Amino acid sequence: MKKEHPIKVAFPHMGNVYIAWASALKKLGVEPFIPPYTSKKTLELATKYSPDSICLPYKLILGNFLQALEKDVDYVAMISSPGICRLGEYGQSIRNVLKDLGYGSKYIELQLYDGFKGMYNFLINLTGIKNPIILIKAINIAVRKMFVLDRIENLFSYYRAREKEFGTAEKYYNNALAIILDAQNVKELKKAEKEAAALIKQTPIDLTREIVNVDITGEIFLVQDTFSNQNIEKELGKLGVQTRRSLTVSGFLKDAIIPKWFKKGETHLERAFRMAKPYLSRDIGGDALESVSDVAYANERGVDGIIHISPFTCMPEIMSQNIFPAMRENCDIPILTLIMDEQSGRAGYITRLEAFVDLIKRKKFIKNKQNKLQNV
Ligand code: SF4
Repeated sequence: MKKEHPIKVAFPHMGNVYIAWASALKKLGVEPFIPPYTSKKTLELATKYSPDSICLPYKLILGNFLQALEKDVDYVAMISSPGICRLGEYGQSIRNVLKDLGYGSKYIELQLYDGFKGMYNFLINLTGIKNPIILIKAINIAVRKMFVLDRIENLFSYYRAREKEFGTAEKYYNNALAIILDAQNVKELKKAEKEAAALIKQTPIDLTREIVNVDITGEIFLVQDTFSNQNIEKELGKLGVQTRRSLTVSGFLKDAIIPKWFKKGETHLERAFRMAKPYLSRDIGGDALESVSDVAYANERGVDGIIHISPFTCMPEIMSQNIFPAMRENCDIPILTLIMDEQSGRAGYITRLEAFVDLIKRKKFIKNKQNKLQNV
C-alpha cells in the first residue's frame, strides 16, 4: 500500500476514538483524515445505501466513510469483528456498498478481535513499516491516549454537573481535547493530561448543588457517540447529574488489545461474566452481557440510577432489556431504557430524562431521610 505522498486514511467517528487513531497513524507517517463530525447529513447519505432494518451504528459508520470518500481519502478503515449479532456482517456489507459505488479498492479492515496481533498486522499492511519498535510505539500511544481520554471524560462529567454557568465545562473540555490530540509521545501525553485536567478544573462550580450519580450502559457505539445518543450526558449535566460511562473504549481495549501480562485487576468483560451470571450465563452478542452486569455493578456501588441506551432493532440489547425486570428482585436501582433511531424525537426523550432524574432525586431524598431517622 506504499504511495509517494503520505497516505490519507479515514476512520469512522465513535466518540473521541479519532484522537487515539490519529496519533497512531501520525507516528507511522500516515495522514489521518477526520471525517466531518456525524450529522443529519451523514445519516441521510448513508440511509440511501443501507438496508432499512439495519442498526443505527452501521448507517453512521457508512455515512462517515461516504463523507470521507467525497474528500478523496486513500482508504477508509473499518474496525470489524466476527460478532454474534449484525456486527459480524458490517464489514462485508459496507465493503459491498463501497464496491458498488466504485470505491471498493479504498476499503481496508482491521479485525479487532485478533487482539494486539490484528492491530499490529493491520498497521504493517497499511504502512509497509515492519520495524516492531516503531509499530509498538504507535499502538502504545493510541492505547494510552484512549485511557487518558476516558479519565478526562469522567472529570468533565464531574464539573459539568456542578458548573455555575451552563456550557463552561464543555468549553474547557473541548480545549482539553485539543491538547491531548497534540501530544506526540508518552512524555508529552503525561504533560497533556495534567494540563487538560487543570483546564477543566477552572470551571467555577457550585458545591452545594444537589447531585445524583447515574451510570450509562447499553450498546457501546451509542454510549460513546453523542450524535446518536442525542448528547444524553449534556442533558443530564443540566439536570445536575454526574454520569459515568460503564462501557468505555479503554475498557474494551483492556479486554481486546492489551496483552494479559500488562493487565491489572478484573477487566470489564471478566466482571460482566461474573456479575451477569445469575441472569445471563453466556455472551449473546453485542454488549448485552455487559449491560446486564453493569446494572448489578451500579446497584452494588449504590449508584442513584442507570440508563440503558440501545439502537432500534438491536437484538442483544432487546434481550438485555427483557432481563432487567427479573433483576428487580435483587437490584433496587432505578433503570431507564432508551431506544434510539433516526426518528427519535428530542422533546419526548428530554421529558423522559427529566422524569427519571426527578424520580431518583426523590428516592435519594427519602433514603437519606430514613438513614437520618435510624441514626437518631
Ligand atoms: S450490538 Fe446491536 S447495534 Fe451493535 S451491531 Fe449488534 S445488533 Fe447492531
